[in-house]
Amino acid sequence: AQSMGINRSTLVSALDNLTAAGMIEGRHGGGTYVCSLDWNALPVREIPNWEEASEEGSYYPNLPEVQQINRSEFQPGIIRLGTGELAPGLMPHDEFNEILLTLSRRSHSLNYLEPQGSLELRVALSAYLREFHDIQASPASILIVSGSIQALNLVSVGLLPRGATVLLEKPSYLYSIHAFQSAGLKMGGIPLDDEGIQLTELSQASNRAFKQGNFPLLYTIPSFHNPTGKLMSAQRREELLATAYTTGFSILEDAAYMDLWLDEPAPKPLKALDQEGRVLHMGTLSKAVSPGLRLGWLVGPEPVIRRLADIKMQTDYGTSSLAQEAAAVWFADGYHERHMDRIRPELRSRRDHMLELLQRYFGELAQWNIPRGGFYIWLQFTCAPLSIRRLFQMCLDRGVLIHPGYLYNRLDQEHIRLSYAYCTPEQMEEGLSILADTVRELLTS
Ligand code: PMP
Repeated sequence: AQSMGINRSTLVSALDNLTAAGMIEGRHGGGTYVCSLDWNALPVREIPNWEEASEEGSYYPNLPEVQQINRSEFQPGIIRLGTGELAPGLMPHDEFNEILLTLSRRSHSLNYLEPQGSLELRVALSAYLREFHDIQASPASILIVSGSIQALNLVSVGLLPRGATVLLEKPSYLYSIHAFQSAGLKMGGIPLDDEGIQLTELSQASNRAFKQGNFPLLYTIPSFHNPTGKLMSAQRREELLATAYTTGFSILEDAAYMDLWLDEPAPKPLKALDQEGRVLHMGTLSKAVSPGLRLGWLVGPEPVIRRLADIKMQTDYGTSSLAQEAAAVWFADGYHERHMDRIRPELRSRRDHMLELLQRYFGELAQWNIPRGGFYIWLQFTCAPLSIRRLFQMCLDRGVLIHPGYLYNRLDQEHIRLSYAYCTPEQMEEGLSILADTVRELLTS
């Protein structure tokens, strides 16, 4: 006890308390023993109030509409106009059957894997990042994560002190906002223009954070942004890095949609352009391949990756080894490239179909961007103001699920996010015509 620095009198009073509670007994000349517990004699304990307890904990709940979306997506027959996932028909089911067969014929691991994830997968990812995105990432600088949302959570709790500032596009990916909020981080929203995040506002916000003694991190989705579909231009990327070098902030680049270009490849990722090692880069198989695999990656300086790998061990002890082995084959055997070549024209024709339908149904009601990749169209109502909250509920009652803009920026009251990736062309038409009718009804009610 002395070597642990516990005071002797503390120990004596602890023993007295345990004796008084009937939990230990001293036997004369024979030491101290733990009593066998008589459960019936214990005081009656209250039944926990789970209702109240479920409102505690450090995580914030999702907004009611988000909870509703997450439930309604599984309602049979619902038309999912905003869902940010590939349609089931675009997912590589046959390819994964083949890969699983390959795995079944060789030795595969059902064990835990090393903290940074399967070496075979990290080697394959390192080659993919170099070949397709000009990113030099050694296997030692890659951490495999259970979906890139885990990378956001790990960076939030493992790299940033509570109260640190995260700057992010306004609007931004909904669950990034939750991850930062629940980790007790301050957030600063920076508007976008047609070329990407606005740099004057960004450097002002970064300077303000530094003045408050805060080290800022910028979280950005440069390629086919969620929810606006915007693509940061090559020039803005260079300027953004130059601003980071002079102003001093670091960058977390979210490349979830990077491979999903439709007309021409996106400009090089920030990580490929970075001269100073300021950029952490995260990617995922969720958008281009399969969200159910729960497989993503984070690339960064080795000390950062080792630290976050250590924290990951505390949270889930590693990403599913089967998913990692399947993903290693996916990249190493050229499946990824072939799959992207197959789905690109499909997505392109879905995008064009949705743009035509918008022209037909929303010409007088709204305006929208023409996305060059990713999944999203950011529809802005230009008619008289209307309650997006009511629109959401009314559409849901009519079997159409939309994603209100205020999920991505609390103050937004004029946008909804549409996705051309999930619905069939027929559902798209039915859903958009119901949406347009509902908007008109709201405007006249
Ligand atoms: N980043 C962005 C921008 C996203 O849109 C998503 C999924 N909607 C993710 C990250 C997270 O995807 P996952 O955790 O499935 O990899």
